[in-house]
Amino acid sequence: MKALVYKDFDGEEFIYNDDTGMIFPYDPKLLSVMEHGKSQSANYMDRYYANLIGNLQNHTIQVPRNVDSIETHLHTNGFSQLTLKVTEQCNMRCKYCIYSEHYPDTKFYSEVYMKWETAKKAVDDFLSHFHRTWERNKTRKPVIAFYGGEPLLGFDVIKKTVEYVKSEYSQYCFNYSITTNGLLLKNKDIANFLKENGFWIVVSLDGTKDNHDRYRVTRGGAPTYDCLMEIIEENFSFYKSIYSVCCYDVTSDLVALTEFYEKNDRRKGGKFPAVLRASRINGAFTDFYDNIPQEQFIAHRKQLDMLQEKYLEYVVANKIPPIFLSLLFSQIFVSISERVKFFSDSAFYDCCCGACVPGDKLFVESDGVYKICEKTNMQGLEIGSVDKGFCFAAAKNAICAYNDCILAKCKECNCSRLCSLCYASIKTFPALELDGSDYCERTIHWITECLAAYTSVEKKGQKLNFSNGIAGMADIYTPHNIV
Ligand code: SF4
Ligand code: SF4
Ligand code: SF4
Repeated sequence: MKALVYKDFDGEEFIYNDDTGMIFPYDPKLLSVMEHGKSQSANYMDRYYANLIGNLQNHTIQVPRNVDSIETHLHTNGFSQLTLKVTEQCNMRCKYCIYSEHYPDTKFYSEVYMKWETAKKAVDDFLSHFHRTWERNKTRKPVIAFYGGEPLLGFDVIKKTVEYVKSEYSQYCFNYSITTNGLLLKNKDIANFLKENGFWIVVSLDGTKDNHDRYRVTRGGAPTYDCLMEIIEENFSFYKSIYSVCCYDVTSDLVALTEFYEKNDRRKGGKFPAVLRASRINGAFTDFYDNIPQEQFIAHRKQLDMLQEKYLEYVVANKIPPIFLSLLFSQIFVSISERVKFFSDSAFYDCCCGACVPGDKLFVESDGVYKICEKTNMQGLEIGSVDKGFCFAAAKNAICAYNDCILAKCKECNCSRLCSLCYASIKTFPALELDGSDYCERTIHWITECLAAYTSVEKKGQKLNFSNGIAGMADIYTPHNIV
């Protein structure tokens, strides 16, 4: 069995067992039985532990791979969101953009725009599958999301799509969302259309002016913060469903960001669109971080440790933590405190993991090819197209390839239940591949530290609420399921 030994903040040792998801106080005999299997020892305690572990193992039911039932799964729970990549072009050139030269395995900017016929076919196909799920559960609402590049560069297709579904599929109660850099929200016709149709508008705004302007620039390299804040003030000051997402990296001042959102986020009475997500700039398969000195990583780590301590103080005192701290830390602590114990949580994967089932959502490239989600931006892992329709066989193949190429390693990992790896963080072309750098080392280190922090506060016996303050935000909008 897989055991991870760690010390909490008081120096007390614990064993996290990934097969069962259980945490035990440290005991060398227990650890030995976990690591080496059944004991033949005549010693009473050795046999006790061997029996205990044997019984626990019997309850760790690993559901066999059963990809053939994917169709039933998807026609019950799948097809929740259709995302259309309206264009691969953008009117900005953010320095961390996945279309930039820093991410050589993903696509580059191009003049490809989605045609209306492509959008229409995608909608019809998606809704034919969604309908099956809706017949089982009529409270389901399909989400249609628009993504880019900058999707508002293809506003015409967005408008036609919304008008089409409203006239042809009036039986469903749609939610619309758009992820935008915000510059084109200046246009009153666009702004009014989005508002009239109740769009969830998610603007990429990196919090403070400093944090935003150093990376988020126009094609000519000009900063965009002041302009965006003016647009929001002018066209959206009374519109509720406008949100923001914040990207940061190891050079960001996280303390300043924490203070910023406490003063300026709309939930705190400020003017800044409510922040839904804090995303660390993607460090896999990129040279983005290559020129940043090592000391900066160390300073960043220290800042994170200090802020995590603050976050936990709020949790222990049962107070609502600052918004930005919740966004930084609640996910890992929720995944530890709400971890699935004993049973595998997936009928399709060889071990517990963070991946969705291809088809839970549907992402359509500008040329009509289907992908798992907007974050799987490399070639490979196609699951159909507007011309061929959604391909269940391709979705099954994706799961099998993920099991064989990725989870073969994760099955041996002693914290796979707590790792959020999914298709979005792996290389998908020419074959599925885990980032060969230090991804796993960093992840295991981070999870071990969080287990230590979690146990330190949890052993005090309180029922802790790690999602205090951001509970329910996922219902507002889940732009890209936090990775
Ligand atoms: S707005 Fe988005 S797509 Fe455009 S350059 Fe910035 S990150 Fe890239
Ligand atoms: S981010 Fe990962 S888990 Fe979420 S939809 Fe995309 S591939 Fe699936
Ligand atoms: S840390 Fe690495 S090996 Fe472990 S579960 Fe995550 S991706 Fe797999």
